Amino acid sequence: MILDLQSYGLRLTDHRAGITARKGGAGPTDHKAITIGDRTVMVPVYTDTAKTSPFEATGPGLDGSAILLRDGTPIAKITYPRQARFYALQTFDGIPYWKIAQLHSNDVLATTVLQNCIRYTDRATSCQFCAIGQSLAENRTIAHKTPEQLGEVARMAVLLDGVKHVVLTTGTPNVIDRGAAVLCESAAGIKAQVDIPIQAQCEPPRDHAWFGKMRDAGIDTLGMHLEAVTPEVRARIMPGKATVSMERYYDAFDSAVKIFGRGQVSTYILAGLGDTAEAILESCEKLIALGVYPFVVPFVPVSGTPLASAPAPTPEFMRRILPALGRMVSAAGLRSADIKAGCGKCGACSALASYEG
Ligand code: SF4
Repeated sequence: MILDLQSYGLRLTDHRAGITARKGGAGPTDHKAITIGDRTVMVPVYTDTAKTSPFEATGPGLDGSAILLRDGTPIAKITYPRQARFYALQTFDGIPYWKIAQLHSNDVLATTVLQNCIRYTDRATSCQFCAIGQSLAENRTIAHKTPEQLGEVARMAVLLDGVKHVVLTTGTPNVIDRGAAVLCESAAGIKAQVDIPIQAQCEPPRDHAWFGKMRDAGIDTLGMHLEAVTPEVRARIMPGKATVSMERYYDAFDSAVKIFGRGQVSTYILAGLGDTAEAILESCEKLIALGVYPFVVPFVPVSGTPLASAPAPTPEFMRRILPALGRMVSAAGLRSADIKAGCGKCGACSALASYEG
């Protein structure tokens, strides 16, 4: 059901229920967090696909639960994780905490530390699925979150909302460290305030010595996201980022695993951008052999991006990947539950963890 929901999306009768859904911004967006049984998952609600989804959810009733319907027939009870308490706070200089970091799923604090990206302003180089500039343009975030601001928000998110781990991502500020430096400062700012596991996400820095510096700054796990795996698809969907070759990524994965450990380095692969299921599984096999956790997620066509009207992957396509991948990661002993922090641990954007043995 999770796999179907994430492909088709969900119509909501009450958009105010639960945690405010994010529109635009870096990484996966336009989702709503819902809890089915004991799993919280992110389901697209603002995409074009979601408008015609067979799934619909009612607003919460008096007991806090809502009904999930498929083609008008009730199929499950769901709940919406409650709005984060830290969203009500602001810094001394008047910046609302929710502009500095957001609650993802039900226990992850996530933020884009640097909202600018060298690739984003020119559509000839930008990743076609990315909406990093939208939230800044609409004044829903700030361009650079300082280490002090991040530490302050993380501390309160732990105290008030029981947040368990942190995801720090960034736009790519240059082609030298590719964001590693700002991620180090940010992680150190958080660890100075609160002891919480942190995942940092960036492109492979030119000098692999950055991996040791990142670990020393308090980063526990690292994500370097391939997004697509076939040269033709990479060049078409992310013409700027595709100049960093797959070989360069594999080289960086190899070095990073030596620093962070097996299973503590991961990558995000968006299924549905044009790669075949076979190509994705073949790349995952290589990644797993290196000790990298391949987090395969259904592509979400985000409004306002060049791919806004592209089709989301069908559930059948996802079924050709995720069950086989779940078996592969389990056989290699790289389970999501063993990851210290980050998207692979959270798992809310994919049904992958449901297939791990
Ligand atoms: S998987 Fe990553 S992007 Fe998705 S909700 Fe979890 S932390 Fe956020």
